[in-house]
Amino acid sequence: MPQKVQRVKGVNDILPVEAKQWQALERVVKHVMNSYAYGEIRPPIFEKTELFARGVGEDTDIVSKEMYSFSDMSKTALTLRPELTAGVVRSYIQNNLQQISPLQKLWYEGPMFRQERPQKGRYRQFWQFGAEAIGSPHPEQDAEMIALFYAILKELGIEKSVTLKINSVGDSESRAIYRNSLQEYLRPHLSSLSETSQQRFESNPLRILDSKAPNDKELVRDAPKIRECLNEASATHYAEVLKMLEAMDIPYVQDDLLVRGLDYYTHTIFEFTSDALGAQDAICGGGRYNDLVKELGGQDVPAIGWASGIERLLLVVEALQPMQTDSGLDLFLIVKSDEIRLPASKLINKWRSAGLKCDTDTLRRSMKAQMREANRQEARYVAILGEEELGQGVVQLKNFDSGEQEAVAFEAVVTKINKAVSS
Ligand code: ATP
Ligand code: MG
Repeated sequence: MPQKVQRVKGVNDILPVEAKQWQALERVVKHVMNSYAYGEIRPPIFEKTELFARGVGEDTDIVSKEMYSFSDMSKTALTLRPELTAGVVRSYIQNNLQQISPLQKLWYEGPMFRQERPQKGRYRQFWQFGAEAIGSPHPEQDAEMIALFYAILKELGIEKSVTLKINSVGDSESRAIYRNSLQEYLRPHLSSLSETSQQRFESNPLRILDSKAPNDKELVRDAPKIRECLNEASATHYAEVLKMLEAMDIPYVQDDLLVRGLDYYTHTIFEFTSDALGAQDAICGGGRYNDLVKELGGQDVPAIGWASGIERLLLVVEALQPMQTDSGLDLFLIVKSDEIRLPASKLINKWRSAGLKCDTDTLRRSMKAQMREANRQEARYVAILGEEELGQGVVQLKNFDSGEQEAVAFEAVVTKINKAVSS
């Protein structure tokens, strides 16, 4: 016997029952994005490797060890997207979107790829939806961005079990000041830092705040706070954002150690976490990235965005507030004999074109087995068609709940079912 092919480690099959949950979540996301006036963008799944090296940063975990990179037949270095901010910004620049409007509010959804150690809530292909607002440097845009994700949480009914952590890394001037004071604080302890943190001491000392090594964590607890190094413009921006969140009744906690893994952040950064998850507790992360558009060859345009992991969000939803998913069929057509398969096919096709959610049997099963199938698919009605009914132009329409049954003319079925379904 030929061997079965197994799926690749760390990726998932999303089967129909689960896909219903996904669709329910997607409906919420689309609805909220729409009401906040964000337009959908669908950039490609792979890009030139250079885009991520420059756009995400050589020194990040993503670029240094997680990317799925390959070269195609023309030897171009390509990478399956590990995130979509870089792709959206590339697309914004290439398509001159700033000419359409000086403020572009965009959202996306799709699979991302990172070669990480697979575990619950951490996969090698995972899905994100996210939003980017490119054009506004002002605090109200930061607040709107956060409110946008909060609105999705509210619509899902899980906002109370989620924590918004927020911090500011300021502008480049503030970060330069902080970098020095952090290095000064850490220098006497340099040799006791973890190997990764020692490497980052020169290249990206802020990332040491994010270290998971116990000794680093302890050291970092008493480190100077970036908040105390913000210059006036950065401090004002941050204070305004916090005030606006308060005005919109969005609770937050300030987290001095929050720096986030990507190189491109400036000013406001934030993360939403949930207690309903284990170690992988971040369901959304984002921040302002005022320098990225310019660094990728565009104009000097400020921007802010976030991305949320769908698998993790669904774990929270499932644990706390399961969603209403699509219900069963309106109607199942039971065909009594194989001789009348042709008129039966014609009939069900008509009903489907008229918008009924209906199914029939194509396995030529017995009446009893067809009835079981109708039941499995949670049909509200079954329509039974035999030679006799066909002669009279009717079906026997049976309500599955009440057991009531009556002969209904072919043409009258759609109206009758629609009436019953909407009542
Ligand atoms: P983490 O700290 O959990 O690795 P991250 O900082 O790498 O997260 P981001 O790059 O900010 O994550 O991506 C935004 C969101 O995407 C995360 O908050 C999380 O919900 C989700 N996410 C990131 N990596 C994975 C993964 N490997 N599998 C599933 N979801 C993921
Ligand atoms: Mg990560």
